[in-house]
Amino acid sequence: MAKYIFVTGGVVSSLGKGIASASIGKILESKGLKVTLIKCDPYINVDPGTMNPFQHGEVYVTDDGAETDLDLGHYERFTNAKLTKDNNITTGKIYYSVIAKERKGDYLGKTVQIIPHITNEIKNSIKKVALSQKVDVVIVEIGGTVGDIESLPFLEAIRQLKLELGKDYAINIHVTLVPFIKTAGEIKTKPTQHSVGTLREIGIIPDIILCRTEKALSKEARDKIALFCNVDKEAVVSAVDVKSIYEVPFNFKQDGLDKLVERLLNLKCEEGSLACWQEEVLKPIKHPQKEVEIAVVGKYITLQDAYKSIYEALSHGAIANKAKLIIKKVDSEDIEKNGVEKYLSKVKGVLVPGGFGLRGIEGKIAAIRFARENKIPFFGICLGMQVAVVEYARNLCGFKNANSTEFNKSTKYPVISLLEEQKAVQAKGATMRLGAYDCKLKKNTAAHKVYKKEKISERHRHRYEFNNKYKEIMEKKDLVFSGINPQRNLVEVIELKNHPWFIACQFHPEFKSKPDCAHPLFKGFISAALSQK
Ligand code: GLN
Repeated sequence: MAKYIFVTGGVVSSLGKGIASASIGKILESKGLKVTLIKCDPYINVDPGTMNPFQHGEVYVTDDGAETDLDLGHYERFTNAKLTKDNNITTGKIYYSVIAKERKGDYLGKTVQIIPHITNEIKNSIKKVALSQKVDVVIVEIGGTVGDIESLPFLEAIRQLKLELGKDYAINIHVTLVPFIKTAGEIKTKPTQHSVGTLREIGIIPDIILCRTEKALSKEARDKIALFCNVDKEAVVSAVDVKSIYEVPFNFKQDGLDKLVERLLNLKCEEGSLACWQEEVLKPIKHPQKEVEIAVVGKYITLQDAYKSIYEALSHGAIANKAKLIIKKVDSEDIEKNGVEKYLSKVKGVLVPGGFGLRGIEGKIAAIRFARENKIPFFGICLGMQVAVVEYARNLCGFKNANSTEFNKSTKYPVISLLEEQKAVQAKGATMRLGAYDCKLKKNTAAHKVYKKEKISERHRHRYEFNNKYKEIMEKKDLVFSGINPQRNLVEVIELKNHPWFIACQFHPEFKSKPDCAHPLFKGFISAALSQK
């Protein structure tokens, strides 16, 4: 039977519960245990797919095509867990399912209520993952902050679940903030006491308190938290701010968090070691041998979370090349206003990520033209590939005002157009071309050299595609269609001849990159950028 770790958060949001959960997963895996992770999101959307990145940050896509919370990205980057649509549970999903059952008559004669019907649905959704993914440990992160109205049914569900599972089978970890008040020159434990108090009111008693702090907590501070929050002294662990999120598993292990979890859950496992992680990930981060500046040209650049996986994958590419990465975030609308040189003349590589809608498109096209003409390594992803095609069509094929029909329905040259099956689609939720699809790479192309294999599978999230009507004519110049989906003959990868590194793909390689195993495209891109004079 699987054992459960429930992770809640208190005091404020953005405490890094996702990274803490992923790091615990990493440590347990290194001890020979099989883990999976679940994120419970209290919002009423069925999934984050219809939310604006400014609202929610990036939408992370799994192999099975689920549009999920970005914390699942952390889980997959830190661990080997294979996550599916079931690993992200939302209030929307739970209610959707309960209401469908009610309409079918499954609860005939009963009043359908939050307790027990909603809470049972949550518990069953959690247990289903443990069963189907056959793991030793399930880490369940509850989104939001304790005290929110929205997350109450989830907290009640995990309270019940822990009781049902019994001793040795479930623990609660509460992540809180212990602020340092500069003017007083001291740290404050009161917010943590209040937050644990709120948890206790709903019947949850934390087994471990993970305190997010600027500096390591003194023994006195930890003892005080233990006393006031009614936990063991050694169960108060400080999670100090770090430069790189990849240090967190290492620090947790050093602070004995693994031993604590092992003891509380009575786990039978190896001692485990993070030596490889230390050598392959932390060492290159701490002691880089060179430096490289990459521009990311997008329209959500003011929000760190909007391109989360892109930034992480770039950092993995830098780690693999033992380089320090500097990301220059460029708003494509600023390029439209002020010209491109101002932003891109000094960078060693340009990446245009995915996106939706017309705003900022012309700035992205200008950035791509600049990278193409000045032989700066260029990497286009999803929308980034589509606008690279538009740029090429306009400026090298003479197709005046060529465009994607997403931005101009009546363009004379619709070089990017709606996927056939999308034409009848009206509903917006989970209706894109989503998840893993095959791609065959042409031999002797740059893409083939990067991947070192012919058959690849990558994750998708798009409605538009390259319009094959223009393939022959566009191939006559320097454009190479180096990756094709064999089942449907869809263009998946394009590249340019006579350019140091110009590759763009319809899929999202950033979702499959890991710190200790950089995605080949990101590794290759950073390597090309480092070779720039
Ligand atoms: N808007 C484009 C499409 O739907 C690109 C999507 C993306 O970049 N994820 O095809």
